[in-house]
This record gives sequence, structure tokens and C-alpha cells, in this order.
Amino acid sequence: MPRFRNIADLGLATGLRAQQPDEPMSLNLFDRLQSSIADPSRLAIETPEGDRTTYGDLVDLTGRMAQALVARGVKPGDRVAVQVEKSVPAIVLYLATLRAGAVYLPLNTAYTLAELRYFISDSEPSLIVCDPAVRDGIGDMAQEAGAAVETMDPTGQGSLSALASEQNAAFATVARTGDDLAAILYTSGTTGRSKGAMLTHDNLYSNAATLVEFWRFTRDDVLLHALPIYHTHGLFVGTNVTLFSGASMLFLSKFVPDQIVSLLPRATVMMGVPTFYVRLLQHAGLTREAASNMRLFVSGSAPLLAETHREWQSRTGHAILERYGMTETNMNTSNPYEGDRVPGAVGFPLPGVEVRITDPETGVTVADGEIGMIEIRGPNVFKGYWRMPEKTEAEFRPDGFFISGDLGMIDARGYLQIVGRGKDLIITGGFNVYPKEVESEIDALPGVVESAVVGVSHPDFGEGVTAIVVRSSPEAIDEQVIMAALQQRLARFKQPKHIAFVDDLPRNTMGKVQKNVLREQYAKLYTIAAG
Ligand code: AMP
Repeated sequence: MPRFRNIADLGLATGLRAQQPDEPMSLNLFDRLQSSIADPSRLAIETPEGDRTTYGDLVDLTGRMAQALVARGVKPGDRVAVQVEKSVPAIVLYLATLRAGAVYLPLNTAYTLAELRYFISDSEPSLIVCDPAVRDGIGDMAQEAGAAVETMDPTGQGSLSALASEQNAAFATVARTGDDLAAILYTSGTTGRSKGAMLTHDNLYSNAATLVEFWRFTRDDVLLHALPIYHTHGLFVGTNVTLFSGASMLFLSKFVPDQIVSLLPRATVMMGVPTFYVRLLQHAGLTREAASNMRLFVSGSAPLLAETHREWQSRTGHAILERYGMTETNMNTSNPYEGDRVPGAVGFPLPGVEVRITDPETGVTVADGEIGMIEIRGPNVFKGYWRMPEKTEAEFRPDGFFISGDLGMIDARGYLQIVGRGKDLIITGGFNVYPKEVESEIDALPGVVESAVVGVSHPDFGEGVTAIVVRSSPEAIDEQVIMAALQQRLARFKQPKHIAFVDDLPRNTMGKVQKNVLREQYAKLYTIAAG
């Protein structure tokens, strides 16, 4: 019997209710979601093509789909690996996997068959769901892994969709404890192999419940959803927060600036990666009036330039709310809903989440204002890496804090600022250089659009500080002007040894600059020059 009636009863992250031994209640995320549905006739998802799915429809559709999964041999705890285009049926499949007590494992639609082989053999799913177009290519790797294969396309065609449509909607959601796995999301793996982050029902629930409250979601909200759904941002933050608040999503298959601008008047919230905001600022239709129905713009997954934040505010009147999270931890910190949303900062720990900054070597907490490793503890933090106990142990402190790999500091007002990934730290002539400090100085120069600073092997210094710069035009600024400006502003060891100009920085689908690609591209810069 579902117990939770409304969000206030759900037990926020600060005090997740522990399951009592005599309680038969399931802590399956879907049970918690279903019991929060106040009115099944309300709209949950709408597409620009006019497809409308109510909360009641979602319960029915996920019931049929869960029956289909069970019919294909999916058992509680099994992985269901999914590589399909973003669509409403894909959301149904996510929720149905939870209902079947199985573990949802979404895969980036850009992965090639060769890349998929690793994920399939590592995760050993009992079922793979893919687009009909790639079914043949997946056949042999599925066979090796002992997995069944079914298909689904964005229009709801495919063998799994057909099977689901023949099923009965009545499905008893499989009971789960809060500590059971709900999903495995592979990290993007810019160094070494991707790791499968194991997320529990409690991880997802606590973060969704916290964010609903923190960002003041209500059933009257309409989220403009243009993010991919194989990643924590679009799948958990966007979808779970909307559904747990009884709101609705305007569900777009991808990010198209024209479409976003035309739909803004119908939405109240948008969640985006920084590139969304940069590209929308280039659109003439982005005006104060176009954004007048909106109450909140959220950014995350990569650093939002302070300049973008300021420009957005002057164009639309809205201060973008930047937050910080990662695949392994869901969301950790957020700028305040009320109060200053500080450009370049990611705000305060969310309720129930603890953040500390430590010396990366010793693990000892450093003083506020000092840069160190960001460590996180809370109900949002994952259970560990799939079948990698040593890796998991190495990334947790004995007291349960997760070592995020991000470097940051807490400023005088208590806001967390991210300085970059630890692996991007440059050590030159024995000195530490934080790329962000150099990038911020370069970005502030007129004629510079953006920059990335990386360390590249150098015969004298170990690593040479190297700046890759995008400028508004070749005449706008040159190397001498940048160097002269930096001489006034940065200690000599932080100044770039080389500045390269490019048209665009390499980015992944979440808008993150791929510094590993840049490091590879410029790997021989100083060794060739020297030799
Ligand atoms: P992912 O696991 O793909 O979500 O990537 C998580 C990483 O993205 C974090 O560890 C950070 O390095 C970065 N990240 C996420 N949000 C922000 C943000 N608001 N500012 C800067 N970096 C961020």
C-alpha cells in the first residue's frame, strides 16, 4: 500500500525515512512516484508534435512495458541496456525497468558498435534494447553476453513496443529497498575506461525530492526538456524532478534554438548545459518578452562562463541558476533560489549533502579560500563502480566522503567555486597552475570568445602551460596582445608558453570541453619545437 501522499511526506534528503523492519512498503522509485500522483488526468509529457501523455497514461504504459520486459526474461536486479533515440517511449522504458525491479542502463546514442561491445560485456545485461537500424550489428555481442535483443524507435515502433502493446496494463511493481540498484550510468571516461556508476532507488529519490523543494517546483511548472536522456542531467534531474512535482515537460528530441525560443512562452523552467545558453544568446528572438513566462533557468554539467551569465541576465532579466553535479553523485550544490546567483560559482551544498575541500594527498580539510579536492557525502552519492571494488574503495574516504576528482574552493561567502578537474591541473617547473585562473584572464580580453588552457609535455618544465583560444575574428586579437595583457595579471609561471587559435573548442554532447583531445592534439608541441 503506497504510503507517501505528497512531497512533504516523502522525507527529504535531510531526513530520508529509514525503512522499518515491519513495513512491507516498497522504496522502489516508481512506487514513490506513483503514490505522489494526485491527479492521473494531468499532463506529464507533451511533444511539439502534439503527443500528450498524462500521469495515468504513464502508469498504464509502464505497466504494459514492464509486462513485456518480464516476458522477455528480465528479472529483478537484471540490467536492461538501452541505446535508443530520445522519445516518450524511451521514458516509458526507463520507468518500466524500475517497475520490473531491474536496473536501467542508458547508453549514449553516439556510441558506435565497437564502443558498445565494452559496455555490453562489462554490464552483462539480460536484455538490450536498441534502434531497429542497429539490431543486426548488436546480434553477436548480445549472444556473447547471453542477452536478448529487442528494438524500439522514437515513434513507438519496434519489437519491444509491439510486445508491450499486447500486454495488460495491470502490473504489480516489484518491491525494492532503498539500497537496491535503480540504474547504472557509465561515466564519460575521458581518462581510461568508462566506469559504471551504480545508483540506488534512494540516491535518485532523495535528489529528486530535494530539488523539487529547493528549486520550488510545483504541478503548474512546464519544463522545456531539450537535454539527452542517457545522462544524469536530462534523465534524472529533468525527468524525475518534473514527475515528482506533478508538473509537465515539453519534450524535445534535441536542442534546436529556433524551437526553444518559440516554445519559451509556454514553459516555466528550462534546464540546459552552458552551450544551450551561449547559442540562445546568438538568437535574435531571445528577448525579455519571450522569456517573460519563465521563472527559472538552470545550468550545469560544465562551467557556465560568468560573461554568459551576465549577458543572459541583461537580455532576459533572469539570473541563470548554476548547479554542480556528476554521474556518480547526482546534484551536490546549487546557487540559491532566492538570494544571489553568483556568476562563476556553483552555490551551496543541497540540503542533506555535505561538501568539504581537502588536500588531495593527505585528505585533510583545507581552510576556506584554499583550493583542494571537492569531497561529497550524502544520500545522493552512488553505491560504487560496477564490478570495480578496488576503484570504488580508492575513491571513497573511510568516513564515506566521495573523492569527486574536481578541484574547488569555498569563497568568503560560502559559495563553492570549481577550479577544474584534478587531472587538468598543470604542474610546470614544480608549480601548480589551475587552468581556470588563466582561462578567466584570457576570456576577459576583448576579442576573445573563449579559451581552454592545458598542460603539454615540455622538456624543461615538465608541462608547458598552453592556451587554445577562440577569437571573434582573426583581426580581433593576437598572441602578442594576449601575452602583454597576461604579463600584468599573472605570475610568470602561469603565463602560457604557447597560444594557439582555433575556430571551435572540441566538446562532447554535454558541452564539456574535451581537454584530453586538446592535450593529444598539442602533445608534441614543445618536444618538436625543442628537437
Ligand atoms: P558528468 O558525470 O558527465 O555529469 O560530469 C560531471 C563533471 O562535470 C563534474 O565532475 C564537473 O567536473 C563537471 N561539472 C558539472 N557541473 C558543473 C558546473 N556547474 N561547473 C563546472 N563543472 C561542472
